Amino acid sequence: MTKYKLEYIWLDGYKPVPNLRGKTQIKEFDSFPTLEQLPLWGFDGSSTMQAEGRNSDCVLKPVAHYPDPARTNGVLVMCEVMMPDGVTPHESNSRATILDDEDAWFGFEQEYFLYKDGRPLGFPEHGYPAPQGPYYTGVGYKNVGSIARQIVEEHLDLCLAAGINHEGINAEVAKGQWEFQIFGKGSKKAADQIWMARYLLIRLCEKYEVDVEFHCKPLGDTDWNGSGMHCNFSTKYMREVGGKEYFEALMAAFDRNLHEHIAVYGPDNHMRLTGKHETAPWDKFSYGVADRGASIRVPHSFIKNGYRGYLEDRRPNSQGDPYQIASRVLKTISEVPTTQSAAA
Ligand code: ADP
Ligand code: MN
Ligand code: MN
Ligand code: MN
Repeated sequence: MTKYKLEYIWLDGYKPVPNLRGKTQIKEFDSFPTLEQLPLWGFDGSSTMQAEGRNSDCVLKPVAHYPDPARTNGVLVMCEVMMPDGVTPHESNSRATILDDEDAWFGFEQEYFLYKDGRPLGFPEHGYPAPQGPYYTGVGYKNVGSIARQIVEEHLDLCLAAGINHEGINAEVAKGQWEFQIFGKGSKKAADQIWMARYLLIRLCEKYEVDVEFHCKPLGDTDWNGSGMHCNFSTKYMREVGGKEYFEALMAAFDRNLHEHIAVYGPDNHMRLTGKHETAPWDKFSYGVADRGASIRVPHSFIKNGYRGYLEDRRPNSQGDPYQIASRVLKTISEVPTTQSAAA
């Protein structure tokens, strides 16, 4: 038997953006446990905005798990928060009720800033560094500093070792701003991995005395880019059947549901989706081929393949909840008849 360190991780009840929380319990297993072997656990919901003090127990239900490469015999356990009965989802549990489809593929591009002493890494104490230009995909101390890349590389290795489907990294447009990409099949699978990758990044940064700033426009109304979490998506039908007519019907559905999408694409998005800095205004839906100033960018490959493949919704922001974002995309897609369903 081996003693495993199980880190139960969940989303708290803070609004509009939940925080990640975690606590450890030690349990013995013959070998790396299966998800089914991980027991329900509890926590004090009155300290996380999830319960009143008088009746404060909430239940943690393991829903996904990964090896924790930062700990000997460590397990990262993604949990849903349940009511004391263990079966009713807590109202803060945004994962329990979302639409899912394992044939729907999601690629999230998570942008974020690294912050120290209340400002982005590399910003001087007063004023600003040289304007944007050389930082995106940049190299060299004057562009990316020294510890940022160390953090980013270490995070990449942690994600890969945990089995998270990390697809890449790049330095972003603003100084101190970075991006990683995660791909998953199914909305829960992709979104669990984004939350876990966020957790690993935040935890890793502790030892560097650095914080991760996920707000979509931390530098306000300036010429510094905001942070997004572009959502690249495709269903089996989009990849295999597609076609111009279906694509246009899909875009009309996205247009019709503009406000429903913006509602779950992350707080303060009006500060970021201004029409500047490679964004489209938040209150007007648009799409365009290879157009980074559109709400939805249509990759060249999509047109070349006969309107088949994936699309990129550029509006979700860096603080958005990937569960709700993926689910909303699937809901809008479900409103558009396919030739199969039309014939059925
Ligand atoms: P860019 O920065 O040019 O917008 P990235 O390379 O950062 O693009 O991200 C592209 C994303 O698209 C990746 O996360 C990748 O996983 C995702 N992706 C690629 N093919 C598909 C697909 N068929 N369905 C869904 N997502 C996809
Ligand atoms: Mn990208
Ligand atoms: Mn980017
Ligand atoms: Mn993108």
